[in-house]
Amino acid sequence: MRAWTVRTPGRLEAAELPVPHPAEDELLVQVRACGVCRTDLHVRDGDLPPHRSPVVPGHEVVGEVVAAGPRAQGHPVGSRVGVPWLRHTCGHCRFCRHGRENLCPHSRYTGWDADGGYAEYTTVPAAYAYSLPGGYSDAELAPLLCAGIIGFRALRRAELPPGGRLGIYGFGGSAHLTAQVAMAEGATVHVLTRSAEARRLALELGAASAAGAQDTPPEPLDAAILFAPVGDLVPTALAALDAGGTLSVAGIHLSPIPALDYERHLFHERTLRSVTSNTREDGRTFLASAQAHSVRTTVTPYPFAEADRALEDLAADRVNGAAVLLM
Ligand SMILES: [Zn+2]
Ligand SMILES: [Zn+2]
Repeated sequence: MRAWTVRTPGRLEAAELPVPHPAEDELLVQVRACGVCRTDLHVRDGDLPPHRSPVVPGHEVVGEVVAAGPRAQGHPVGSRVGVPWLRHTCGHCRFCRHGRENLCPHSRYTGWDADGGYAEYTTVPAAYAYSLPGGYSDAELAPLLCAGIIGFRALRRAELPPGGRLGIYGFGGSAHLTAQVAMAEGATVHVLTRSAEARRLALELGAASAAGAQDTPPEPLDAAILFAPVGDLVPTALAALDAGGTLSVAGIHLSPIPALDYERHLFHERTLRSVTSNTREDGRTFLASAQAHSVRTTVTPYPFAEADRALEDLAADRVNGAAVLLM
């Protein structure tokens, strides 16, 4: 099968690989679309230490089940499934036992610990695959599987009060989905991003304002989410919070955070918190919520053969909405 791999940091290489065999508890999935996530860039560039080399990146996979191991249940051959980032947790540790499997120290991830969706076929443990809502094309569904789910967890971690004022820093694949859920739930959303095209998209989707990343929003924020992987924006976003506000950092990797000033950035009970992966429950809740609120995904499609260009465009902030590879 045709695939893209990372063998040496900094390069995505085209390769021919054998079609993988599903293990006992796995599905074999013929890939139809695969979203391009910022985490794939971190895998390519070695910001995330390699867990497997070479590795096929890609963890926003929409495809069709074409075979299944004898213990793989819940997704019959022929059904459309989503293959996400989280693909294994231990089920026994104190995190797994208390509904926090996203923090399981034994967790494994698609496109990092195991080959992912930048390929014609991939495998997934059946218990970690998602059934997908109808009414969406394959390309529209792909970004929901990581960008959407992680953004949803970041929104919950931001503890936005009902009808609250939410700041969103950076407005790419994840942010544009999260903003729609927040607005559907009654939030006033202010978007802060350096990309003029992203600011236009934000206003079109219903944001109350859109300004530059370092600008001050028009009103104090009850909560903010930092999607841009830019540590310099942490003090900026904290300073924009009202008393008692929370900043939730959605990225898996962030450039260094400059020194914080206690009075300007944290006092008055402002809170800074990270977001680490997601639980399967987050995924199911988000997919149901996306369908209920008719969350619209803005997709920039790329032919599979141009995965390297898609990653370059993402690195340079040239993608409007979410980049998706189409088989
Ligand atoms: Zn565990
Ligand atoms: Zn991702």
